[in-house]
Amino acid sequence: MSTVYFTDFRATPKRSILDKVGDLLNRVKLNTKIRKNDLVAIKLHFGEMGNTAYLRPIFLRVVADKVKSAGGRSFLTDTNTLYKGSRSDSVDHLTTAVLNGFDYSCVGCPIVIADGLRGGSGIKVPVKGEILKETSIAKDIADADAMVVVTHFKAHELSGFGGTLKNIGMGCATREGKLVQHSGVAPQVNARTCIGCKTCVPYCPVEAISVKDKKASINAKKCIGCGECIIICPTKAIEVQWQQPADVFQKKMVEYACGALKGKEKKSVFLSFVMQVSPACDCYPHNDAPIVKDVGILGSIDPVAIDAAACDLVNNEESVPGTAIKVRLKKGEDKWRAIYPSIDWNIQLDHAVKMGLGEREYTIVKI
Ligand code: SF4
Ligand code: SF4
Repeated sequence: MSTVYFTDFRATPKRSILDKVGDLLNRVKLNTKIRKNDLVAIKLHFGEMGNTAYLRPIFLRVVADKVKSAGGRSFLTDTNTLYKGSRSDSVDHLTTAVLNGFDYSCVGCPIVIADGLRGGSGIKVPVKGEILKETSIAKDIADADAMVVVTHFKAHELSGFGGTLKNIGMGCATREGKLVQHSGVAPQVNARTCIGCKTCVPYCPVEAISVKDKKASINAKKCIGCGECIIICPTKAIEVQWQQPADVFQKKMVEYACGALKGKEKKSVFLSFVMQVSPACDCYPHNDAPIVKDVGILGSIDPVAIDAAACDLVNNEESVPGTAIKVRLKKGEDKWRAIYPSIDWNIQLDHAVKMGLGEREYTIVKI
C-alpha cells in the first residue's frame, strides 16, 4: 500500500499554503531523489491562453527553490500540443507561458519546451505495453536526470479525470506520441477548408501528402503519424480523427507514462493540486466553474496512488450547484461519470497497476 501525503487549504500567518507545498516535498523526500547538479524537469501544464484554471506560478517557485536547495538545477517544462492553438510550437508556447505568469522572475528557473520548436524532438523509448511496444518521448524530458510532476487535477473528456498519469503520459509525449494516443489512423484533410496552398507538402517526412485540383490528400498507408502537418496548415484543414475508444486511449496514455518515467522511476516525485476542479482539460481556451470545492494538495512517490487518492477525494465531496454537474450529487457519488457518463475512468488506474507503475491502494497521511 502506497503513502499519499495530504494537506488541505487551511492556512495561518505562521503556515501558508506555500509552506505546505514545501512540507509535501519534504515528506516525499525530494532531496533524496536529486544528486548535486542534476537537471530536474518540473513537468506542468502552462494553461492554454484564456484558461485560468492552471496552477498558480508561485506554487512552482516553491518547487524550483526546493530543487535548488537539494543541489539540482530545475527547469519548468511541457510539450507542444497536437492541435493548433496557443501552445502548438515552442514560440507560441513560451509566449503563452510567460503571459500566464510563468517567467524567470516569478518561478526562479528557466522554461524549456521539451520537444523542440515544432514538437518533433523526441526519442523512442521501448515499453512492454498491452498495446504499444515503444513510445516517443520529448527529448529534453528523457534527457533530464530527475522529474517533479506537478499536476492540476480536474475532469477530462477522454479519461474521466485528468491527473498525474495524464500529465506524464500525454504531457511528456512528442506530437507523434500524442497522435498515437489520440488516434489509430492518419489525419484527414477537410476539403471544405483546404485552399490548396501546398504549405503542408514539404513538412511531411514521408511524402504522404499530395495536392491535386487545389485540394490536399493524405496517403494513409504512407503516413507515419508524426502530426507535423496538423499545426503547419494555415487554415487548420488537416484534422486529427478523434475516434479512439476511451479504453484504448487510457491504456495508451498509461503506456506512454511508463515510457516517460523509464529510468527515472526512483528519481521522480508527484504533487497534485485538487483545486479549481474544472470539468475539462486546461488545453481549452476557457474553463468552466469548478464542480466541487477546493480539496487540498497531495504528494507521493507513487503516480497511481496519488491519482486514486485525488479521484476519491473529489468523489467524497458534494458537487457544487450551478456547474457542469446538473443534478446535485452527494458525497460518495461519482462526479466523473456525472460529466462523462460513457467514460470508465477506472481503466487508467487499473492499467497503470498492471503496467507496474504503482498501487491503487493507498494510505493518506494528513500533514
Ligand atoms: S497546408 Fe492546409 S490548406 Fe494548404 S494544401 Fe495543405 S491542407 Fe490544404
Ligand atoms: S502526420 Fe506526418 S506523416 Fe502523416 S501526413 Fe502528416 S506530416 Fe505526413
